[in-house]
Amino acid sequence: MPSRIYECISAIGNRIIENMDFLTELDREIGDADHGINMARGFTEVMKGLDPEETDIGAALKKVSMILISKVGGASGPLYGTAYMKAAKEAMGKTSLTTDDAIAMMRAAVDGIRQRGKSDVGEKTMLDALVPAFDALTEGAAQGKDAGQILDAMCQAAAQGAAYTKTIAATKGRASYLGERSIGHEDPGAASSLLTLEAIRDYLK
Ligand code: ADP
Ligand code: MG
Repeated sequence: MPSRIYECISAIGNRIIENMDFLTELDREIGDADHGINMARGFTEVMKGLDPEETDIGAALKKVSMILISKVGGASGPLYGTAYMKAAKEAMGKTSLTTDDAIAMMRAAVDGIRQRGKSDVGEKTMLDALVPAFDALTEGAAQGKDAGQILDAMCQAAAQGAAYTKTIAATKGRASYLGERSIGHEDPGAASSLLTLEAIRDYLK
């Protein structure tokens, strides 16, 4: 029987692969038209390399990280790889997660991207989806919301964040070469981060 973490990672992989063309088209507008291809290649390898019976959430996420770092070209491979690696450290040895675990994992993942990318919100990157989602997670937890409500709030915040990337100019990554001309286009990394969170929500609900 496949483990829950395997099923959840597969749900992310399937969502990314289904949206390969969408993500690549976004990257065509402001980058080099490879974000969907990069991510789909990475998750195809993840689904080949991950043990379906792995129950240790940290071990599974570490494997995802190593595969993404080695197989995904471009900026997004090392950045997502770092995020999964940092989340893995917080989940090592665990076979289920509390809300506090989820907070620690996502905090570590987001901080890892910030450090690795020397970036922050407002620069038209994946962080514009992930940071608002993290804020929704901590706020929802503080308000005592249940997991389903928190996941909905996270996805809503990430969707708003991804939409917000259309209104700003890129100052990090390839899209920054376009400067003001990047305005009007959604950031592909913000879109793939939203898809990731939606896949997690839909799997867990
Ligand atoms: P590349 O830009 O090398 O072709 P991808 O197209 O796969 O790589 O990924 C591009 C995405 O990576 C961008 O849409 C953006 O969200 C993200 N990105 C690029 N640079 C950074 C950075 N310094 N910090 C955070 N995210 C970044
Ligand atoms: Mg690209």
